[in-house]
Amino acid sequence: MAMKKTAKKRATATKRTVTAGCYGCAATWAGAGAQGAAARHHDETSHQTWANVKMLVVYGKAQHASPLIGGTRRRRRSRATARVR
Ligand SMILES: [Zn+2]
Repeated sequence: MAMKKTAKKRATATKRTVTAGCYGCAATWAGAGAQGAAARHHDETSHQTWANVKMLVVYGKAQHASPLIGGTRRRRRSRATARVR
């Protein structure tokens, strides 16, 4: 059977980002357990809850810094702290 030329083994990385919250009492959750927390919170309280799931898929290996995968995400830090001289 003729096979289509397939790509070489392709590095694939995925990252899910979940944020969740409650419309009833404004509780919020983030991270791996957020979606489950929203579901359980609804079960326990009957509050209407939501979960926003984003999935990032990256193909290939980094030839330069990949800012969204691997925990190197830069966070803008406030420089509000006063410099002491
Ligand atoms: Zn709630």
